[in-house]
Amino acid sequence: MQIMHGVAVNSGLHIGTAKIINPKSYNITHKYISEGQISEEETRFELALHHIEQDILNYLNSSDINESDKDIFRTHMLILQDPDINIRVINGIRDKLYSAAQAVYSTYEEIAKQFQDLENEFFALRVTDYKDIGNRLIAQLLDEVTADVIESDADIVYLMREITPSMVTRLGKNGIKAYCAEKGSLNSHCSILTRALNIVAIVSLPSVMTTVRDGDLLVIDGFDGILTINPDSRTLDYYHQLQNKYISKQAELSLQRDLNSETISGRKIDVRANIELPEELDAIVELGCDGIGLFRTEFLYLNRDKLPSEEEQTEIYRDLLSKMAPQPVTIRTFDLGGDKLSHLLNVGKEDNPNLGNRGIRFSLAHPELFRTQIRAILKASVAGSAKIMFPMVIDAADFIAAKSIVFECMQQFEMDEVAYDHEIPLGVMIEIPSAALCSADLAEVADFFSIGTNDLVQYTLAVDRNNDAVSKYYVQHHPAVLSLIRQTLSNAKAENIPVSICGEMASMPEYIPLFCGMGMRELSVNPNRYFQVKAIIRKCDEKLDEMVQNFDFSSSLKAVEKLIFQDMKAYYDF
Ligand code: PEP
Ligand code: MG
Repeated sequence: MQIMHGVAVNSGLHIGTAKIINPKSYNITHKYISEGQISEEETRFELALHHIEQDILNYLNSSDINESDKDIFRTHMLILQDPDINIRVINGIRDKLYSAAQAVYSTYEEIAKQFQDLENEFFALRVTDYKDIGNRLIAQLLDEVTADVIESDADIVYLMREITPSMVTRLGKNGIKAYCAEKGSLNSHCSILTRALNIVAIVSLPSVMTTVRDGDLLVIDGFDGILTINPDSRTLDYYHQLQNKYISKQAELSLQRDLNSETISGRKIDVRANIELPEELDAIVELGCDGIGLFRTEFLYLNRDKLPSEEEQTEIYRDLLSKMAPQPVTIRTFDLGGDKLSHLLNVGKEDNPNLGNRGIRFSLAHPELFRTQIRAILKASVAGSAKIMFPMVIDAADFIAAKSIVFECMQQFEMDEVAYDHEIPLGVMIEIPSAALCSADLAEVADFFSIGTNDLVQYTLAVDRNNDAVSKYYVQHHPAVLSLIRQTLSNAKAENIPVSICGEMASMPEYIPLFCGMGMRELSVNPNRYFQVKAIIRKCDEKLDEMVQNFDFSSSLKAVEKLIFQDMKAYYDF
């Protein structure tokens, strides 16, 4: 039996059989570049090298990894830094006008062939190392992870180096209940999707691919992030008992379905659901929640060969709106950008995609794409109660620029006599500190706010939400973040506009009493947490309100932690 510790992405427990997904072997077809693209391809190659070097360094610095695995990674590092190999790749780009991926592919193929020709067992083993590094570089350059076949067997636990949103979707569609990955973080879009599809997962498990073998029995403990490999019978018994307890707790929570989400003092708090994929809709309708507070529409654009048309989008939005009616559906315009969609729109990779052309800036930079989406939402708006929300807005001017595109589309519809909801509310996500700081201005022009804590934390604390190496700095309840939330709430109140929280914090038990105490009237949560959130709201009382109202959020992190993890514990830990 062996134990590994990682980051639990979704609570739950799964016992199953390991299946490792190795990065696929690439067979690249020749694609030549022009002379003008040489330096861009060289830079892409250097960035890919750097990225993988960082990954390997992270593994080597990890305490979870044993010495023999470290040796493998040291060998990989040597291959990656071999100047002879790298100059061969660069020459392939410069002299043969190969794309970076093509140059890597042919260089590493040549090396592998040389070793294979030696017909020696030691060198044959080296081939695997070279192929592995070559494939990792190509995957990085092609922005892919794997195209392996996923079996529909709920017993299987897939293990992989890193997961992508498309892979999470494929696992969900194939009924897979659990996965583990070497890389990953709690608040990445992959993890959000994993929770939405109720898959149990542990990420940030360096060397899991080399520690686990195909066919090993695994226990994925999604409560504490513990992976047990080939458990002994006592451990297995313990986990079976825990699983039964969890199942009965879930059954008990589902009794919340018919109860109001109201605090003890009688304050109704609307609890809505976050949705990423239209496939989740039926399960959300079943919950009987107060609507959809966040539809992440960018998922409609990802992992496709062509952009979704206006008609296709209209159908999806119409279906959502009519099935949820009369409850509202907040459609967030696509939060695309950075490296996403680059293959469809011919936009290059950015060094800092999270600080680059992302969210509303990307939409404003691609007005045709943006208009197509707005027209689709407006056409569908007559089917129910739609709201439009813009992501990554900096300030009121940014919001007004987005709003004016909506007005243009409306004017066109007036001329063409196309029906749409004339009163459709237009709101803004508060997820950049500047938007929170300018929320007084924004509240004058927006119809509602929704606080996106996932990004608000990332930008306030300058910590990449996807980078597990800095995850200890991603402190969601940091006083700086809570002060911005408080400021946003009070500015929204002054203008009498509704405000909701739709980031992952709204689904986390420990933060729900805090938000209730702050006077939040709407939360938009992960559908799998819906009943739990309701149960916690129903525990909140006036004493809690007082405790929060009197708290100074500009005080120390320690004081905040005492408030949340000690003084409020009884409200969420039952
Ligand atoms: C957020 O940033 O909190 C949010 C809800 O948006 P996303 O997670 O999609 O960036
Ligand atoms: Mg966001």
